[in-house]
Amino acid sequence: MFFHYRTQGFVLKKNNKGEANQLITIYTKDFGKVEILGKAIRKGKSKLRGAIELFYLSEIEFIQGKIHKTLTDAVLIESFSNLKKDLERLSVAFKISEVLDNLIKGQETDTKIWNLLTQTFKKLNDCQLSIINIQLLYYFFLWNFFSVLGYQPELYNCSICQEKLKPGKLFFNQEKPGIICNNCFKDLKSVKEISPELVKILRLILEKNLLILLKLKVEKVYLKSLNIISKEYYSFIHNNQVT
Ligand SMILES: [Zn+2]
Repeated sequence: MFFHYRTQGFVLKKNNKGEANQLITIYTKDFGKVEILGKAIRKGKSKLRGAIELFYLSEIEFIQGKIHKTLTDAVLIESFSNLKKDLERLSVAFKISEVLDNLIKGQETDTKIWNLLTQTFKKLNDCQLSIINIQLLYYFFLWNFFSVLGYQPELYNCSICQEKLKPGKLFFNQEKPGIICNNCFKDLKSVKEISPELVKILRLILEKNLLILLKLKVEKVYLKSLNIISKEYYSFIHNNQVT
């Protein structure tokens, strides 16, 4: 007899296995990231298929075998139907799923990640979002996710000398994550300048102030630099984890 585990989860990735099976990556409330085999799930008569479409939130049930987990039941909770009507939203959902898959190595429950994922997906499904809002939601997820993983940057004091940051030239330091002042910059040539506007956006993101964040009129130039700094910090964290 197998024990049946029941939990809720977001379907993040699906890989075909053989003719009819699928290996499904699900971020669950009670077990963190899990990979579950959906047996014969691609066959027309599979009743589980309707509840495990990509980016669905579903109640799932599985059994733990010697090698893998096998899906035994799935009931749809929320399909986030707006995600699939809009390429921008869909692309953010794919990026979130990729980041989660890349940076979470093992199976471990994490309520903070679960809540962040739930909050981001619900908001991303909201009708009233501009393209800039949608992009900001990705960074909202990304930077708060970095923080949960232990990479929260210091944004109010210099991350090296701890002095309160003053207006003027500021820089972003990955090694001791956070903003550094002009004085400390002199000894560290590898860091990059960051605009005060971008520091403000990052603060709103990490304070989880979605209400104000989504009302901001963010100019394209700052979105572009937010994109660059996010990509660089992501790859720094990724490389740090591997070694
Ligand atoms: Zn300093």
